[in-house]
Amino acid sequence: MNPALHAAIAAGSASRWENVRADFPILHQQVHDKPLVYLDNAATAQKPRAVIDALVRFYERDNSNVHRGLHALSMRATDAYEGARARVAQFINAADPAEIIFTRGTTESVNLVARSLAAGLKPGDVILCTEMEHHSNLVPWQQAARLSGAELKFVPVLGADAEGGLDLAALDSLLTPQVKVFAFTHISNTLGCINPVAELCRRARAVGALSVVDAAQSIGHGPFDVRALGADYVAFSGHKMCGPTAIGALIARPGLLDAMPPFLGGGEMIESVSFLQSSWREAPWRFEAGTPPIAQAIGLAAACRYLDSIGLDHIAARDAALTAALKSSLASIPGLRIVGPPHERGSLVSFVMDQAHPHDLVTFAGEKGLCLRGGHHCTQPLMRKLGLPGTVRASLYFYNSFDEIDAATRILADAGRYFA
Ligand SMILES: *Cc1c(COP(=O)(O)O)cnc(C)c1O
Repeated sequence: MNPALHAAIAAGSASRWENVRADFPILHQQVHDKPLVYLDNAATAQKPRAVIDALVRFYERDNSNVHRGLHALSMRATDAYEGARARVAQFINAADPAEIIFTRGTTESVNLVARSLAAGLKPGDVILCTEMEHHSNLVPWQQAARLSGAELKFVPVLGADAEGGLDLAALDSLLTPQVKVFAFTHISNTLGCINPVAELCRRARAVGALSVVDAAQSIGHGPFDVRALGADYVAFSGHKMCGPTAIGALIARPGLLDAMPPFLGGGEMIESVSFLQSSWREAPWRFEAGTPPIAQAIGLAAACRYLDSIGLDHIAARDAALTAALKSSLASIPGLRIVGPPHERGSLVSFVMDQAHPHDLVTFAGEKGLCLRGGHHCTQPLMRKLGLPGTVRASLYFYNSFDEIDAATRILADAGRYFA
């Protein structure tokens, strides 16, 4: 993106966001003879031309396996793959690229850290989660608890529609010295709550617990400084920040990886192997068994460059403006009730409508070209606690437009009348 455009975005010029939108080929199409309105960004974000081109370029010019080869293509692929690690480190302000393990995404990252830490847990220890966790940051801890005998506890959400967010007062009694791991989401994918990550990490450290942050909904939506947050581990997915699918990372505080046993065994992660035993390479390669997602890592680096070229602070401001508009616009629809906190939310709005089940609403909207998501959003225990069959979720990213919010509101108001 050129400097003039960057300056215009800084000045908040609406027409310039039209140029940003033009970077995303997929957005300019009709579905069911209606203009596509894609408001399912919390499930996966769309890809700009720059990311698509990086993937094509790699496959057309450099494709080869990494690390073991001594020929030109393998060296190029290795340089690009390790360069991607350095670019991701820069994107999140990590001190050293070696703190970044490439994984398939948030789910694999949490599984990796949960399985590794489980080896050091014992009965009497506590793993603390929250009631708003995605299954990805819950099920691996259930497995770790079962393997180790540790107990799993939860920080509750406040209010009938979780409008109070996390019950931080309950932390005082929950965060005891028995807690060895505190795993929580930065932004809830169901409620939109933004949790005070730096404070939660600090309080975990104060009782000697390791903090594990699920950043799937926050990375790429605003400045993310892993050192300022003070987290011990951060998990995220590339595909929610304009990168390819099947790439993400686990980031660890310096020094933590050296003490962790590997998760998966196989090629690429070994130092030497005999028939009965093996020795491991150093971190992060010890955790990257087998052929890694090479093209995907390169695509993720392209996404980092793209988002940085717009500016994460501008993206955050754009997200916030769109979300405020969506929220007030949806609130005007008769029978529609917004779930989650009234202020301070990520770029998504979850709601229910008296007239119709979430799945019926999402199907109705889909036929009009509007892509929403309905159901439990991989947070079944939270839905059960709130007594909801599910919600409808509209989720935004910077390339969405205010016109799309108007269109979505019209379609949902129509749905309200249709199902009445
Ligand atoms: C999407 C999401 C995940 C899971 O990410 P994957 O890419 O499917 O591994 C975990 N937590 C939150 C909060 C999410 O939004």
